[in-house]
Amino acid sequence: MGIRVFVSHHIPCNTCRYCLAGHHTACDTLHSTNYDPGGFSQFIRVPKLNVDRGVFLLPPELSNDDGVFIEPLACVIRAQRIVNLKPGQSVLILGGGISGPCHLLLAKALGRGHGVRDRC
Ligand SMILES: [Zn+2]
Repeated sequence: MGIRVFVSHHIPCNTCRYCLAGHHTACDTLHSTNYDPGGFSQFIRVPKLNVDRGVFLLPPELSNDDGVFIEPLACVIRAQRIVNLKPGQSVLILGGGISGPCHLLLAKALGRGHGVRDRC
């Protein structure tokens, strides 16, 4: 068995004006560092920059099923950090993708979001 890793699908340059302002998702480099042909493929090519700066070993206690949530959960954590959700504030989740349940579970885990319910 090989070494289990998580590979970031996009890498920002960390030097452009967007990166320096904390808006990495607007970075041109970030949008040019994609897997090829795509994340649902059995095998993928990974840009050198991603290999150099975006490969992380998965700890043995983390299952593959849980490991697939690293990227979407990271986006959710970043989004909730940016909006600075506070206890007692309401949470409205639109859409039924993977981010919705992740937002719900994170808000509940942090004790945030007035009226957060299990049912969507
Ligand atoms: Zn940048």
